[in-house]
Formats: sequence, C-alpha cells, structure tokens
Amino acid sequence: MTSNLDKLRQLMEENAIDAVIISEDRNKRYYSGYTGTDAYLLILAESRFLITDFRYIEQAKAQCPGYEIIEAFGQKAYEFIKQTCEETGAKRIWFEDDTLTFKEYTDIKAALDPLELVPDSGSIAKPRILKTPKEVNNIRKAAKLADKGFLHILDFIRPGVTEREIALELEFFLRENGSEGLAFPIIAASGPNGALPHAEPTDDKLEYGTLITLDFGCVVNGYCSDMTRTVALGEPPEKLKEVYHIVLEAQKRALDFLKPGISGIEADKQARDHIFSHGYGDYFGHGLGHGVGLNVHEAPRLSPRGETILEPGMVVSVEPGIYLPGLGGVRIEDLVVITENGFDNLVSSRKDLIIL
Ligand code: ZN
Ligand code: ZN
Repeated sequence: MTSNLDKLRQLMEENAIDAVIISEDRNKRYYSGYTGTDAYLLILAESRFLITDFRYIEQAKAQCPGYEIIEAFGQKAYEFIKQTCEETGAKRIWFEDDTLTFKEYTDIKAALDPLELVPDSGSIAKPRILKTPKEVNNIRKAAKLADKGFLHILDFIRPGVTEREIALELEFFLRENGSEGLAFPIIAASGPNGALPHAEPTDDKLEYGTLITLDFGCVVNGYCSDMTRTVALGEPPEKLKEVYHIVLEAQKRALDFLKPGISGIEADKQARDHIFSHGYGDYFGHGLGHGVGLNVHEAPRLSPRGETILEPGMVVSVEPGIYLPGLGGVRIEDLVVITENGFDNLVSSRKDLIIL
C-alpha cells in the first residue's frame, strides 16, 4: 500500500517541487504521527525532518520514526531549512498557503531567499481526502461513541433543562467514554434557536412542544465524527412535524443516490430538489455535506459547488436541514464512507421522529 508520504512525494514530483514545509497541525500529524504543536516538517525527496523546540523533542522522537528530529526554533529553524535545501539542491519549496500566517510567510521568505516558495494550493492536504481502512476505523469508533452519547442524552432531555446543561452532560459522557475531545463545540438548539444552523447552547430552558437539535462529534486517535439528530419534547406543532419528514426524506433520497462516480453537486441536488419541491428551498441555506477526517470539515464538499467526484474511501456527512426563523429547525446528519458499491453508514442512531 502506498504510504501517506509516498503520495506526497508523488505530488511533489508531478509539480516539480523539491521540498515541502508543513506547519498545519493536521497535516503534520498525517505525514509524521506528531501530535504536538510548534513544529515544522521539512520533507525532501530522500530525507525528512521534524524541527521543533526543546519542549517537544522527546515526544517527536517517540512519535515520528523515520524523521530526523532537529532542535531549533524561530530564525534558527528557517536557517536549518535553508541550509538543508541548499545542500540537497532543492530550489522550489511548497508551503501551505491557506494556513501559514502572513508573518510566518514573510519571515520564511526572507530567510530562504533566493529559494522559491511555491503556494501548494491545497496539494499537501489532498491525499487526506481518501481514507485508509485504518483511518475509517478510527472514524467509525468515534461515530459509534457518538451514537452511545445520543442514547444517553435522550434520558436527560426534559422540560426545564437548559441547552447548556444538555451540551455539558453530553460532553462529559463522551469524554468519560473515550472521546479525546470534541470534534467541535456541541450544538444543542431548542425551539426558535434551532433555526440557527450553528447555534451556541444558551441558558434557555427546554419547553414542551418544541424540537431540539443536537449536533456533535467525538475524536478517536485524532479522527473526528459528526452527527445530528433532531428530537421533539412533547408533541411539536404540525408544521415542524411536516418539516421533519421532508428533511428525513431529502436525506434518504441523497443516501439512495450516493455511490462512487457521482459528484458532490449531484448528491446535494437530490436532497435540495426534494426540499425545494415542498417550498422550503430558501430555508436550506447550506451544503448537503462535507468530508470528515482529522478535521471535522475537510474535502470533499457535497454542495452546489462540490465538483469532486466521489470515490471509495471518502468519508462525508449527509445533513440536509430546514430552518424557519422564529419557529425552529430540523437537521438530520449521518456520516458515511463511500465504498465500491455505494456507502457504509457509520451512524446508526434512529431517525424516525422521537417524541420524548
Ligand atoms: Zn454536524
Ligand atoms: Zn457536519
């Protein structure tokens, strides 16, 4: 099997790149196993280095076999990079143009002069789009744990409890049961707050006859999961029930369509057309889904602009939603891995409307 590093070196060759500087934490982890911060990877055709300061030397040695660990920081780190590139004849050097700060870029550019710094335009992160079975396994574990968390929190949802209390209880449960952290801050949005797709939990108390949307994810070995369920506390208004079933059907249509060879645009269209046909097109203002891996939001996108063609090994969320200002919202989100024949759903929590 081609290693992550082999994939990067192949991209380097295709783009006539002699060396790569990596400073984004997820990319560093992907290519070296390093989980610390404040480090650079320097990758050349024949050699590779991890450059960090005193605090991380032992950690880097333990986590990054195959890397030569260099103790240097700031200007010294750049001097090391320049010297190493010059010694190996490396002239064109990739950097991560979407994450390197302007200051770092300016400093590195000045220090490396006259070597050529070339923006990578996302190439360094590109191999991450196709997950290996081992990566999928980590995401699967994270998704399973989130399923457990959903079951747990259902018992906790009752009138008078605040959104913040629900988010806290869920976070405690997930972490206690093995999640390394949260993939992102938990969304627990009840009543009209549910109309905000990325609502922050408030001190609003839950009331009968409302919906509550829970969007959350775990982290296992650095890999995220992402799921959303919307449940009702007591009998909700007819309109929200209707909306729930439209969203559920939209998700089903998208899932039925999902397989290798289709584009993110086509997948998105299945759900969007259904929602549109029921007159709620203006209330589904985000894309159908996104890739999930070391980052909770990464390539590919399932959206009207998601041109990437799906391939086995891609992990994507499928999350249509309808948001009605002043009334509430519904979102249902699963996480799937694309397989040779279709997909494998990593989320198994039930999706019929639960009325607590
Ligand atoms: Zn989510
Ligand atoms: Zn999501």
